[in-house]
Amino acid sequence: AESTFSESKRVLLAAPRGYCAGVDRAVIAVEKALEQYGAPVYVRKEIVHNRHVVDTLTEQGVIFVEEADEVPEGERLIFSAHGVSPAVKQTAADRGLETIDATCPLVTKVHREAARFAKNEYHILLIGHEGHEEIEGTHGQAPEDTTIVNGPWEVDQIQVPDPDRLIWLSQTTLSVDETMETVQKLRERFPNLQDPPSDDICYATSNRQTAIKKVAPESDLVIVVGSENSSNSVRLKEVAKDYGAKRAEQVDFANQIDESWFTDAATVGVTSGASVPDVLVQDVVRLLSEYGYGEPEEVVTAEEDIVFSLPKEIRKAMKDAG
Ligand code: SF4
Repeated sequence: AESTFSESKRVLLAAPRGYCAGVDRAVIAVEKALEQYGAPVYVRKEIVHNRHVVDTLTEQGVIFVEEADEVPEGERLIFSAHGVSPAVKQTAADRGLETIDATCPLVTKVHREAARFAKNEYHILLIGHEGHEEIEGTHGQAPEDTTIVNGPWEVDQIQVPDPDRLIWLSQTTLSVDETMETVQKLRERFPNLQDPPSDDICYATSNRQTAIKKVAPESDLVIVVGSENSSNSVRLKEVAKDYGAKRAEQVDFANQIDESWFTDAATVGVTSGASVPDVLVQDVVRLLSEYGYGEPEEVVTAEEDIVFSLPKEIRKAMKDAG
């Protein structure tokens, strides 16, 4: 009877999950910078929002700073995957810092859109979470011409200079569903609101949400591996709940899992945010097997094969070094 019970305890592993191309590129850029130039290498803000990644790089000689003006003059500074505003680049240039830009190309794309629409005298309604580094960077492209909209609940209060010259853009790591709700509300208020040329919510964010939407309805418990400040990880937890997971929890590490969560949890869904190395997911799967859960069954909703080339400064350094 016991073995029947254990066979019925299932693990559904969402795919895609974990590392996206932008995170992979940013982490490798820092590792290569350490290799090419030696420690210390400075990074503005967390290179990606993951505790394990930040702790590991810190041990290897990376110094994380909040702002460019904390870096000694003439040193080397890497900008994180979330991107920076022109003002931050200026501060770094004023200090004579050598900079390496690890901004995800999909964030850079949004920056370019913001700059271009502002130049064409549009006002930008930037959907995203105020205070998040990516929003600071995108807002900073055209600060006078941008209004941040945190969610549908803010639509009624926003003020715009000209309701007929409006475009919406967004953070790359939002909930797809909630963003569409915000856009719909905005359009009800501003019928001439223009759409961006292409989606700003990135492929990785939307693919991970699609996968967890399939896993969640079958899951008594969904475990999202990802740090608390990781926007796309937090969204995965919300989406899991919205799509029928009886319970959804978010952890940085397997050892934060509370065994009481397993009570009455016959099926456990597992996923991870775009900044999470898969070793951390494997730790969770191992823990689940210790609690009698079966081999994980992958629930695949998309294949990803996107790879971004490394930042040009790193490519050049590697080439010069032979
Ligand atoms: Fe780039 Fe999307 Fe990954 Fe952010 S989540 S680093 S935008 S691919």
